[in-house]
Amino acid sequence: MSRPISIGVMTSGGDAQGMNAAVRAVVRTAIHQGVAVHAIYEGYQGMVDGGDRIRLLAWDDVGSILHRGGTVIGTARCPAFREREGRRRAARNLLQSGIDRLVIIGGDGSLTGANTFRQEWPELLAELVQAGEIDEATARDHAALMIVGLVGSIDNDMVGTDMTIGADSALHRITEAIDALTSTAASHQRSFVVEVMGRHCGYLALTSAIAGGTDYVLIPENPPPVGWEDRMCEMLRHGRAAGRRDSIVVVAEGATDQEGHPISGDYVRQVLEERLGEDTRVTILGHVQRGGTPSVYDRWMSTLVGHAAVEELLAATPDSEPQLIGVRFNRIHRAPLMQCVEKTRAVAATIAEKNYAKAMDIRGGSFTAMFDIFKKMAEALPSVTPTTQPRRIAVLHGAGLAPGMNTAARAAVRLGRDRGHVMLGVRGSFEGLINGKIEELNWGDVEGWTALGGAELGSTRYVPTTEQLYTVARTLETHQVDGLLVIGGWKAYQAIYKIHSERDRYPAFKIPMICLPATIDNNLPGSELSIGADTALNVIVEALDRIKQSATAARRCFVVEVMGRHCGYLALMSGLAGGAERIYLPEEGITLKDLQADVERMLTSFRTGRRFYLTIRNEQANPQYTTDFLARLFDQESNRLFDVRQAILGHIQQGGNPSPFDRILATRLAAHGIDFLTEELERGSAGGVFAGLVEGKVSNFPIKLMPDMVDLPNRRPLEQWWLSLRSVLQALAQP
Ligand code: ADP
Repeated sequence: MSRPISIGVMTSGGDAQGMNAAVRAVVRTAIHQGVAVHAIYEGYQGMVDGGDRIRLLAWDDVGSILHRGGTVIGTARCPAFREREGRRRAARNLLQSGIDRLVIIGGDGSLTGANTFRQEWPELLAELVQAGEIDEATARDHAALMIVGLVGSIDNDMVGTDMTIGADSALHRITEAIDALTSTAASHQRSFVVEVMGRHCGYLALTSAIAGGTDYVLIPENPPPVGWEDRMCEMLRHGRAAGRRDSIVVVAEGATDQEGHPISGDYVRQVLEERLGEDTRVTILGHVQRGGTPSVYDRWMSTLVGHAAVEELLAATPDSEPQLIGVRFNRIHRAPLMQCVEKTRAVAATIAEKNYAKAMDIRGGSFTAMFDIFKKMAEALPSVTPTTQPRRIAVLHGAGLAPGMNTAARAAVRLGRDRGHVMLGVRGSFEGLINGKIEELNWGDVEGWTALGGAELGSTRYVPTTEQLYTVARTLETHQVDGLLVIGGWKAYQAIYKIHSERDRYPAFKIPMICLPATIDNNLPGSELSIGADTALNVIVEALDRIKQSATAARRCFVVEVMGRHCGYLALMSGLAGGAERIYLPEEGITLKDLQADVERMLTSFRTGRRFYLTIRNEQANPQYTTDFLARLFDQESNRLFDVRQAILGHIQQGGNPSPFDRILATRLAAHGIDFLTEELERGSAGGVFAGLVEGKVSNFPIKLMPDMVDLPNRRPLEQWWLSLRSVLQALAQP
């Protein structure tokens, strides 16, 4: 008979939002797999102290923690664990609970400590046997320590994962702060310097500078040359002249100049006051960045890695190399733990050696590209001399509103102007093209659009009829439009497909055109994610948190209806992030048999002590079994064990200001769109594509391929990567 397996889970080092989601996933996956799981409270300190700091957890012990910031099992710095004696005591304490497999959630320090511990384990056990603290059988049964690492760090500073647990939430906090500062700065025509965390990593500074639409950024990996103050002041002056009412400079805490002299927020303030005469204030965000509720991304990503960590540990053998479980392109990514730690430390060393090109290189191509995009957008003057006959590019939206449309339009206008183009805005989508509502947009016209929900240019679902195409062609000719950039959803794609297929009849349509995906439904071909979906998810999950809170006094089942049309993305991802017990997806439909089984499960669950049961239904999961029907059915069958409520979230899901992720995605896609159109125009060709994110890269697909990539009656892509995450939900939802 094999001996029972016992896992320990611990959070260590700096706390980070999302750690709780990871702990919950570890605990529930382990229990789902029939394995005992212990929490080690207060990081390595709890391991060294033992006793009730190492506790067996049950399913419900990790209920209602998804939405909480920080870590409910505590974290601490523990000097004792750096000593061999401390680790010897830790080994003994773990063995008292039969633990020889650990999930460590922490930064590079914590993961290094875990690796040392693993390497020493056999010797530590031999010493414990010799001292009579454990018997030989125990040492034999637990001859090896197996570990797996998850990265909890708001800085996003670890090689081996695209994102660390907590980074996205920190970005939310910083972006909220910059948005707030922007409005007060604009009112008083003031300047602000915002200092953000990141000793060796400029991720938070750079992404928040882009998401916040700020003017200048200083990061450790790419310090400015000596004399940078002149350049900064010049850029800010140009911005003011072009219509900006405020200036915001973001400084990472580890920022220096190229000589390695630290640059503090206060120094930047002095420069702005002395050289520009601007009334300048410094805001150091500090621990606010670690605070608050975790973002949706941090909840579902941490859930995925927590789940995968247990699977990894259960498959591990004493000889297998410890792995770091992270994410790459939203999929689980395994990489050898210590290699990741060493490469991460190499970045700090590279910066210390002033080898900045290499530091940027290690950060990767998209980091460098984003830095470049930021600079171009912040500079009001074009970097090329406009030609006497500049190209004219029209930007328009189409289909339902998606938060981030404005961000994309602003980026397109600024980056297009930077390439020397005249940028045109079409008001009112394709109807605007029919009615000739086109106007030139300058750098200052799109000021402030970054953070704005909705669509300043307007967005309608109207698709021109075949007869109206003639008028559309006339408008394009009258306004001498050389290229089209469309930011929108399903109907916009349809409209462009129609226009593109009529190229032979209308010469005006023989211009380069590109569609960028923007819809909360995330139902477009050629892109794994669309602009707006992350914001909608955050709105939904915030509502779910409130719904949960509202139900604490009663035993209650909630049926929450979310949008998405025929695509279950919003339902599944909000369910993962909001801790739903059951999700009804249009991809699966709903049968009577399903409902019978659900009712049984619900009854058992409430009988065994459950107080809240969350179900999420996509609006089109089944035409007959509506949200109202489900709620009535559950109520009828509840045996008065629980009551049932329904909530149809409706249009609030399309509202709200774009999340940082949507702003970054919008900026990145818009930059790609402008690059594509510029290249086509320079080559003299007239390609038509729709673009999107596929496995982390922005890719193009010819417009004529659109019908081959979609399930037309159901208006969704044939391939949907996120459907594979259903198994995680199943493992976590049922005791
Ligand atoms: P982070 O994990 O966020 O990098 P620290 O570097 O402070 O944070 O590490 C957290 C804890 O991990 C330390 O207090 C210590 O207990 C343990 N630790 C860190 N480095 C080592 C090491 N080299 N050997 C043993 N334990 C370590």
